[in-house]
Amino acid sequence: MVKNKKNNMTQKTHIIANWKMQLSNQEATDLAVALSRETKSSVQKQIEIILCPSFTALVQVSAIIGGDSSPDFRRGQNDIRLQLGAQNIFYHDKGAYTGEISPLQLKELKVKYAIIGHSERRQFLNENDHDVNLKIKACLLNSLTPIMCIGETFEERRLGKTAVALIRQLTRGLEDVKLENDQKLIIAYEPVWVIGRGQAVDPEEALQAAQIIKRVLLDFFTPEIIANNITIIYGGSVDAGNVKNFVVPGLLEGVLVGSASLIFEKFSKIIDVLK
Ligand code: PEP
Repeated sequence: MVKNKKNNMTQKTHIIANWKMQLSNQEATDLAVALSRETKSSVQKQIEIILCPSFTALVQVSAIIGGDSSPDFRRGQNDIRLQLGAQNIFYHDKGAYTGEISPLQLKELKVKYAIIGHSERRQFLNENDHDVNLKIKACLLNSLTPIMCIGETFEERRLGKTAVALIRQLTRGLEDVKLENDQKLIIAYEPVWVIGRGQAVDPEEALQAAQIIKRVLLDFFTPEIIANNITIIYGGSVDAGNVKNFVVPGLLEGVLVGSASLIFEKFSKIIDVLK
């Protein structure tokens, strides 16, 4: 069993499946059923698989994976746990906000995580760092764990401004964010230019980015909070062939998977490599 050196707790690997707007409700249901069978296999460490379907499929997927009431979760018969995540939230609990979905509504469906600030939302829906900040706070207030996505564009990288982009997104996105007790934050380093491209970054670049992120986090949180409450993961064209390079204990502790999470055979191979 892998132990976290700082607090001696069992280390957890996060595998996040971002299904985007790619699956019908039936396809999402079938995939969740297949993956819930996958959790019956034995593993060496704790793996949390977070399924993030479209809002329309949350009810069905929630019923399949069962949230905290899942028998496997309670009996602890194995260490792969399926959890439910949303692909976005709105930052008010209730009100006249046509078309938006609140953290309270998501909690009712046993959603535990929410992807915040995905580059596709930043690019196509004008989401900015201020929105990201409000959404992170709304998640934490409602006991949801935010999965904050940050990453540089191809142009920023070409100009040698990767660190500048990451520092800007972190500084604005985490303004006045406090983490207390068991509140968690996941930061997904996702270089925008490799998302959906079939070619991940050089793992060395991802590790350098994780180190930059860790340094910036020290401006916001104590080392203890960083060690115990914050997880940094990598996302961008992860597959079974490259995933091992992107999970490095203490630095990168999971992956966010888009394309390869849509096909059971591909996604279960990624899980197999990590378990
Ligand atoms: C993503 O959508 O965040 C993502 C990482 O997608 P892909 O794995 O397809 O690059």
